[in-house]
Amino acid sequence: MGSLRWGGDLLGELLDLCVREKVKLGRVEAIGSVQRARLGCYHQKSREYRHFALNEPLEISSLIGNISLKDGQPFVHAHVNLSDARGKTFGGHLASGTIVFACEYTIEAFGGMELTRVHDKRTGLHLWRGDDDR
Ligand code: ZN
Repeated sequence: MGSLRWGGDLLGELLDLCVREKVKLGRVEAIGSVQRARLGCYHQKSREYRHFALNEPLEISSLIGNISLKDGQPFVHAHVNLSDARGKTFGGHLASGTIVFACEYTIEAFGGMELTRVHDKRTGLHLWRGDDDR
């Protein structure tokens, strides 16, 4: 558990922590606030993330995600809900470009097994290899 530095990139800081602490499998959650945000939504037909920017201070009302391996390196996949001064909430897939104002995180590392993301033809996403793929 800890806090992220002011002005850091939220996703990048979480990833750096996992690399530094050698977290290969785990879960992450965080609360706090951001100076601005960039989120994505996966467009299933075109098979690409479409990003949008929220250029205002927002509360991190909820951030939840997981840590696994992609190309042999830790990979953080996180979704976030952000709320404005009136409580209006925006949400999506956390992308780089979301800038920390203040953030308290918890990362829980799991030992034992490893999960690796591999390209999935059906979705175009990098997913965990499932039982039906073996
Ligand atoms: Zn996602």
